[in-house]
Formats: sequence, structure tokens, C-alpha cells
Amino acid sequence: MVENKKKEQMKFLYPETLVATDEIEVSGKVEKELLTEINPFEMAKRQIDIVAGKMGLNENIKKYLKRVERSLIVSIPIKMDDGSIEIFEGYRVQHSTIRGPGKGGIRFAPNVNLDEVKALATWMTWKCSLLNLPLGGAKGGVCVDPKKLSKQELERLTRRYTAEIINIIGPDMDIPAPDLNTDPQIMAWIMDTYSMHKGRAVPGVVTGKPIEIGGSVGRETATGMGLFFVLEALCNKLNIDLNNQSIAVQGFGNVGGNIAQILYEKGCKIIAVSDISGGLYSKEGLNINELLEWRDRNNYLKDFHYENYKFISNEEILMVKCDILIPAAIENQITQLNANNLKCKIILEGANGPTTPEADDILKQKGIIVVPDILANAGGVCVSYFEYIQDIHSYFWKLERINQELKNILGSAFEDTYSLSKEKNVTLRIASYMIAISKLAKAIELRGIYP
Ligand code: NAD
Repeated sequence: MVENKKKEQMKFLYPETLVATDEIEVSGKVEKELLTEINPFEMAKRQIDIVAGKMGLNENIKKYLKRVERSLIVSIPIKMDDGSIEIFEGYRVQHSTIRGPGKGGIRFAPNVNLDEVKALATWMTWKCSLLNLPLGGAKGGVCVDPKKLSKQELERLTRRYTAEIINIIGPDMDIPAPDLNTDPQIMAWIMDTYSMHKGRAVPGVVTGKPIEIGGSVGRETATGMGLFFVLEALCNKLNIDLNNQSIAVQGFGNVGGNIAQILYEKGCKIIAVSDISGGLYSKEGLNINELLEWRDRNNYLKDFHYENYKFISNEEILMVKCDILIPAAIENQITQLNANNLKCKIILEGANGPTTPEADDILKQKGIIVVPDILANAGGVCVSYFEYIQDIHSYFWKLERINQELKNILGSAFEDTYSLSKEKNVTLRIASYMIAISKLAKAIELRGIYP
């Protein structure tokens, strides 16, 4: 059978990253189906192996870093508006709290699973370590399509999920934040639920809250702003004039929407953007503010009609000929199957885990520079850290200070990564991992293994 042969080929290409594929039966689409089955945690562990090999990391430390400290799976029963009861599954994972309390977002999405959350928690550990933030890596998620819930159902889901994970979160333990399909309102419900259980207001339990209840100015736009600072630093190194670059952005939510708007307002030409429904393309450039207004009125990009814009799919947006491609949606978008067809010069990773290790090798051969997620999109966790500090001190900073400190921290992380990549002749991803992992290894050595 053709399908079986293809499956065998894919198993050869991705020996460790595939999960069981027996139920896949659609002919002709086997590769695509299999790619959606890439296991992100296996991918995260393989990234550790690759970097450990390059830096000669002690085998025991490698073993230590390839497991998560704690995974909690919870069942979330919700009374629906029609009186029925639905049960959702939720997760909270702490990969490492060696360098400080866990930190990481919560996502609500239909395909969230434990291994995805473990991978995301692992990447958070590297991100905090690379930036020298005194925080560890964590992540959470609920397997749900939030678009199918009413606002009241969404609130009940958020509150029940919070109550289920309440014993392992808190300002000194693990501090959630927004991620896919979660926003300041959802953070406000988490903060309120936690506070009601504790009998006092505890703003520091989450970041990305509304400003009125202890949130920070600049947090909503922080990931986009961070992407911009890192891109600007790279362009300075490479003597590239950012204003003359053509840019494509996959994902038009918090991260994709903000970076597209920041670049658009700086005068750059954004030639393509997409959301889950597909994307829009114009060689002359899109009017990003108009598209953001459309999005904010709860519309999908596929329904935006303007005769000069061409509709493209989410696969096509990655192949668009452009200078800078910004994947800002979900994991596993750039893989061994499409990396060869990319026509950009720089990839700035807004999403977490958008590129597989196999694709990394191909991109390196093609001379495409990849600015890795743990550096490129770290602006979010950085301003979350500022929010956490402001909550502890009950003293709030002005936007200028937030942006200046963000630029300083990301600027240093970029410099460290860029110089190490030149010194060791490795990609920016390998260099950033080397820095993050060596700090973790040192922390483990200093703390020792209890008991
Ligand atoms: P979001 O929910 O605000 O936006 C996600 C966007 O991606 C939407 O436009 C959505 O339509 C699109 N999308 C969703 N599924 C898709 C699919 N299967 N194919 C194509 N497009 C799809 O989420 P966000 O907060 O912008 O997060 C996007 C990515 O950035 C995630 O990988 C997240 O982990 C990462 N990230 C977010 C933050 C943050 O502060 N929000 C920080 C760092 C990294």
C-alpha cells in the first residue's frame, strides 16, 4: 500500500518524533497527517541531545534536563448553558524550578495534549535561563475549542481549571500567563479564583492581567515589541535596512498581530499575514491597521475581501518570497517536508517550536538565518517578569522604563547568542541553547541533588 510505504518513509525520516499513526487512513495526505503527529516533547528532547553533543554536556545533567519536574492532569467538568455537563482535560507542567518559580503561559486549544505542554514548559526553562531571569519553565493548557464556548462557559472553565491546579501555582511556585487563545480577561478570572481561595487579593499569581488589577503597561504588546528589538539588533549586525525588507507573518493574534503592526507603523512592507482560516497576500503590501480592525470585530482573514489582496493558505504563506518570515501561530510549521521550498532570508520565530530540528539543518544549508524562539519571542516572559516584580513591590513602572529594560535584557541575550554562534560556528539556535543549558547545568551543580 502506498500509504504504508509513505508511513515507513516518514518513520525513517522522523524515527523518534512520531507517535502511533495506525488510525491514519486518508490516502495522499499521509505526509501532512503524519506531520501533525510530530511529538513536540520528543522534538524538545532531541534538541537537548543535539546541543549536549556539541557542548560535551555531562550525561547525568542531560538525563536530568530531559525530564519534567512535575505534570498534573486534571479533569474539568463544566455546566454548559443548555444544562448539560461537558468534561474537559487540562494540564499544568513544571519542567524546572531550579532557577526560580515556574513561569509559562496557559493555552486553550482543541489539540492541546500533555506532551505538547511538556515541550512548551521545557522551552520556557531555556528562555528564562537565556535571559537570566530568576524563573523556571512551566506551561499549562486545556484541550478545548474556546470559540465554541459562550463567555459564561469560558469563565466557568477558567475558574474550575484554576481551582484544579491551585495547589501547584502561586507567586512563589509557578506563575501562569496568556498564550494561545487566552487573554487578560482570562488572567483576571484566574487571579480572582486564586484570591478567593486564599482569602486575599494575590495579583502576583498570574501575569498578563488587566492593568486595573495589577497588570503591567506594555505586557500585551511585549512579545511583539521583543521580536522587533531582536530583529533590529540582527539587522544592525548584518547591515540590513529594516525598512526595505518585505515581511510575511503566519498567525495574526497577540504575537503575529503586534509584530505586524509594529513593523507596519515603522514603515516596513508586510506582504502577507494569516490566521487559522488562511491568509492574505499583496506584493505591494497590506494595510495592517485595517486588517487588525477587521480581526478585532471577530472576523477571520479569509472573509476580508479586497480586490488587490490574494487569498493564500497557511502552507502557502510559508513559501512566499520575502526577506523576513515570522511564524507566529503554532509548533511544527517548518519541517523537513517544506523547508526546502522556503524563499525567505531570515526566519524570526514568534511562535514556540515552529521549526523542527530536521528543518533547521536544511535551513542552515540554504543560508537562511533562524532567530530561535527562546530568544526572538522572549519579550513576553521578560515583561511578565517585570509585572511580577511590580506586583511584589506594589509599585508600577512607566512604559518608557518597561521598553528600555526590555531592550536592554533582549539586547544582551542577543549579543551573547550572536557572539557565541560566531565563536563556535554554530546556528543562533544552538548558541542560545548552549548558553541556556550551561546556566542550568551550573545551577544544578551548585544546588546538588536532594537528598
Ligand atoms: P493567539 O491565540 O493570540 O493567536 C494565534 C494566531 O494563530 C491566531 O491568528 C490564530 O488564528 C492562528 N492560528 C491558530 N492555530 C493555527 C493553525 N493551526 N494554523 C495557522 N494559524 C493558526 O496566540 P498568541 O499568544 O499570539 O501565540 C502565538 C504563538 O506565540 C504560540 O506559539 C505561543 O506559544 C507563542 N508565544 C506567545 C506569547 C504571548 O505573550 N502571547 C509569548 C511567547 C510566545
